Amino acid sequence: MINVVLLGPPGAGKGTQAKFLEETFGITPLSTGDMLRAEVAAGSTIGRKADAIMKAGQFVPDDMIVGIIAQRLDGDDCRSGIILDGFPRNLPQAEALDEMLKEKGLKLDRVLSIVVDDDAMVERITGRFSCAKCGAGYHDKFHRPKIDGVCDDCGGTEFVRRADDKAETVRARLEAYYECTKPMLDHYGKMGLVSSVDGMASIEEVSEQLKAAITKELNVD
Ligand code: AMP
Repeated sequence: MINVVLLGPPGAGKGTQAKFLEETFGITPLSTGDMLRAEVAAGSTIGRKADAIMKAGQFVPDDMIVGIIAQRLDGDDCRSGIILDGFPRNLPQAEALDEMLKEKGLKLDRVLSIVVDDDAMVERITGRFSCAKCGAGYHDKFHRPKIDGVCDDCGGTEFVRRADDKAETVRARLEAYYECTKPMLDHYGKMGLVSSVDGMASIEEVSEQLKAAITKELNVD
C-alpha cells in the first residue's frame, strides 16, 4: 500500500500524473476538484454551496472538503493506496488528514511536490479543454486533437472548458495556492516526507521523476 499526496499549483499536471501513478502503482487517484465538480453537476446541497466559491477561484470550507475525503477514504478502491490530488491545500487540512489516516491505521508515505513557473501555468490552464464524453484532456496550443473537433480517444465531438480556467480566476487560484501551501510544505518537510520534482520538464520526464521518488523511498518495483 502506498499513500501519496501530489502537490502543485493549478496547471502543474497533477491530474495527468495522478493517472500515470494509478497505472504504474495500481493506486487510486482522489481529486477533490473532480469530486466537487461532480457534486455541482449533480446539484447536491454541497454542490450548490461549492459552485460560486469555485467559480471565484476560492477555497471551499475546510470542514466540507475534509468530510468528503473522510467518506471517500473508506472506499474499497482505496485499500491498495491513494494519490491525493488537490487535497490537502492548507495546514488545517493537512493536520486533519494526518488525524484521519491515523484513525484508520494508515500513514502517508510521500508528498510529491511539482515545482513550476507561474506565467507558464496561466498559459497552460487558460488553453485547456476536455472531451465531454470521455474526459480526455486537450490544449489549444500544446495538445490539439489529431482531427480538429474530434476526440482522439472516443470520437466524441463535444468539448468542455472548466468555468474556473479563465485567466483572472487562474491568477487568484495561483495566489491562493502559494499562500496556503507554504505552511503545509513546512509541515511535511519537518516530517521528512517531501520530494520535489521539476514540473517544467516534459510530461514523460515528470512521470519518471515521480516514479523514481516513490520507488526510491519505498523500495518498491
Ligand atoms: P482543482 O480541480 O483541484 O483545481 O479544484 C478546483 C476548485 O475546487 C478549487 O479552486 C477550489 O475552489 C475547490 N477545491 C478543490 N479542492 C479543495 C480543497 N482541498 N480545499 C478547498 N477547496 C478545494
